[in-house]
Amino acid sequence: MFTLSARAALSVEEQVLSTAWSFAQHMPRATEAGGMLIGHQPQDTTDLVLDRLTIPQPTDQRSRFRFRRSQEAHQELLDLYWMASARTRTYLGEWHTHPEDVPVPSAIDRKSWKKALAETVAFHRMGLLFMIVGRTITRIWYGASADSFPILIAEFPTGELNEQTPETRDPIHDAAYNSHAEASGLHETD
Ligand SMILES: [Zn+2]
Repeated sequence: MFTLSARAALSVEEQVLSTAWSFAQHMPRATEAGGMLIGHQPQDTTDLVLDRLTIPQPTDQRSRFRFRRSQEAHQELLDLYWMASARTRTYLGEWHTHPEDVPVPSAIDRKSWKKALAETVAFHRMGLLFMIVGRTITRIWYGASADSFPILIAEFPTGELNEQTPETRDPIHDAAYNSHAEASGLHETD
């Protein structure tokens, strides 16, 4: 559990981290990856539970130092999670990887986080989470509004690739993962 504010805590499910960590840029030519953070707010609390994420899609733009998430493909996955969860799983923020040990948000990151906060604050009663997976450290920031820079709320070692057992797989993630596999195929031909 991590502290969001005096009255709110964040819990992060291991599956979210193990999936994000599988994209950590350990290899010299590995490109940045990212997606949406998805979760829910337990009833009658101001807490957040981060328990889903989207992973890179074929329409994303990925390079060693840049990740540009395509809106449409990730929104479709978010909609699937929303429907499959009886409308409880919702957009909680953004994640991406960095090819550095301890991730520091770039000027572009700061700008895009501010934009995401400005766009969602009107209808989103909770703030947004921003996670960057570095090669040795993973960090999570929490932004309550577009007026101030998100606060660093969590920092922990980036783990190893964790193969998921069939029991814990979920079909939406698998579909996303399969399309990722195709995208990787394209990258390898470059
Ligand atoms: Zn970045």
